[in-house]
Amino acid sequence: MGFIVALDGPAGSGKGTVTKKVAEKLNLVNIDTGAMYRCVALDCLNKNIDSTEIEKIKEVLENIEIELKNQNGNQVVLLNGKDVTKEIRTTEVDSCVAKFAAIKEVRDRVTPLQRKMGEKNDIIMEGRDIGTVVFPNANIKIFLDCSVEERARRRYKQNIEKGIQTTYEEVLTLIKERNELETKREIAPLKKTDDAIYIDSTNMTIEEVTEKIVKEIEKVR
Ligand code: C5P
Repeated sequence: MGFIVALDGPAGSGKGTVTKKVAEKLNLVNIDTGAMYRCVALDCLNKNIDSTEIEKIKEVLENIEIELKNQNGNQVVLLNGKDVTKEIRTTEVDSCVAKFAAIKEVRDRVTPLQRKMGEKNDIIMEGRDIGTVVFPNANIKIFLDCSVEERARRRYKQNIEKGIQTTYEEVLTLIKERNELETKREIAPLKKTDDAIYIDSTNMTIEEVTEKIVKEIEKVR
């Protein structure tokens, strides 16, 4: 196993941006596990399969190929050989991904792929269950929190920058719904472990959060 940083937190807590910056500074491979659940959701959406159609989802899982590639520090996501880096970030995927991610069969398929990624490289992996399920023995665990309103504000701003048309209220409702699903689901709920370092990013800049995490990692690496 390489050196493993497990970073968990809710949607919009800044995980994605911060992980990328920390990875650059410390020469770690940056892995966004949410992208893998987004691939499952997108594959099902494209095939008109609903999150309640378990048998059909199992079929999709049997044939699905998800690949995360690092290109100049950016993660490129391939679904069945096709670049879907942008496609997995639409509002459509946003609104159904948590339902697919709550399905046991989906997690059973995706979790081993994530573990494999930690075998050869020094990594920083972000998600919801990295410190609890994927790498319970990670070298360091970070739980990045943030108020729900601030998270919605950040996501809304990101959407506008990307040209995705939404309102703040829509984003807030979606984030609250996802939060409910992610913290209350039976399998692998979003939860801080006792040994995780807690950081509340509500009133912090990206740079401040990055610096804090870099310092914490340097203490143990
Ligand atoms: O982080 P991101 O918002 O892209 O994740 C998309 C979805 O994937 C989340 O809403 C969550 O339901 C799911 N997820 C998960 N476990 C992870 C990472 C993401 O259940 N480790």
